[in-house]
Amino acid sequence: MPDDRTIPPLAEADRKRLDDLYHSLQVENGRILGYPCNGAFDYSPLYRFLAFPANNVGDPYLPSNYHLNTHELERELIATFATLTHAPEAHWGYVTSGGTEGNMYGIFLARELYPEGIVYHSEDTHYSVNKILRALHVRNIMIRSRPDGTIDLEDLEETIRIHRDVPPLIFANVGTTMKGAVDDLAGIHRILKRRAIQSYYIHADAALSGMILPFVDGAPPWDFQAPVDSISISGHKMIGCPFPCGVALARKANVERIARRVEYIGSLDTTIAGSRNAFAPLFLWYALKTVGLDGYRRRVRECFGVADYAVGRLTAAGCHAWRHPYSNTVVFDRPAEAVVRKWQLAVNDGIAHLIAMPHVTRAHVDQLVVDLRERP
Ligand SMILES: *Cc1c(COP(=O)(O)O)cnc(C)c1O
Repeated sequence: MPDDRTIPPLAEADRKRLDDLYHSLQVENGRILGYPCNGAFDYSPLYRFLAFPANNVGDPYLPSNYHLNTHELERELIATFATLTHAPEAHWGYVTSGGTEGNMYGIFLARELYPEGIVYHSEDTHYSVNKILRALHVRNIMIRSRPDGTIDLEDLEETIRIHRDVPPLIFANVGTTMKGAVDDLAGIHRILKRRAIQSYYIHADAALSGMILPFVDGAPPWDFQAPVDSISISGHKMIGCPFPCGVALARKANVERIARRVEYIGSLDTTIAGSRNAFAPLFLWYALKTVGLDGYRRRVRECFGVADYAVGRLTAAGCHAWRHPYSNTVVFDRPAEAVVRKWQLAVNDGIAHLIAMPHVTRAHVDQLVVDLRERP
């Protein structure tokens, strides 16, 4: 540790910049309605850990030469997510830098298993997936979406039929970015069966909904029971975390096939990132231990209550609001730009959405509606 006296204090001007930044973040923090980052958390009991240069480099299930890690908590956390997602006994997972890395991991696995495969995904798939497909250089075809945001099964079946000799690698949306829609996995499996396709892979992008659907009675099939082969869930969304993070889960046999390949070139490097955030497993583990699964079930129910309230208020204001019964994303007519900016609403073409995360209250909705009436 450096001696404090050897570090000069911040110059007055720089200190003021930090204070200004702090205050502006404080103000904006009260107005996040459009993005699914839960701001309702308190990790202050963990701040003492930030004094360590901890690093979770490597596979969480293997011994590491770097001892300042939180691999043990990471394994426990993955075990909890494995239970939530009905993963088979033989599963593998790790804590990622966010939903994007987990999606990249899923497509990476799929491509390694079926290098000639084609990725199918809908128009409503998260924007980052296009970049992942380019980076991994995988063939891919975009499938039409239905107005409710789910993948158009007719278009999917017709496209798969044309490319019958190539393994389909399905990138399934489990809670789309704009509409919170869950692709019909039962319908996708029916197509694969009808077309007698033996070799395929299904990845579930459950960035937000992966921490919602386990707590929703009568949720559509979406997890390893659906079944899918890998899942990506963000940690900073429904759970809430001051830095981005996430969880990737996969079938162990598939991971081992890739690990062997990498071993061949002299490494058991199973994760996408090398050095990995050791605080992410610590924070997520803490959240699950303190809030608890019953606590998240309660939170999801409360979020849905606020979402229903928003649908009612926005409908009364003439904004054509709706939501999927299993989602906290409320879609409505795109309002004036000033309202979009003030409330950090997400917009796409003619629609906007608000996401009823745990920090979003009925009072927020009321204030938004006042603004909408003033500037529709
Ligand atoms: C947020 C989100 C992503 C990206 O996840 P990050 O954690 O931001 O990297 C991908 N897909 C969906 C559906 C999302 O909501």
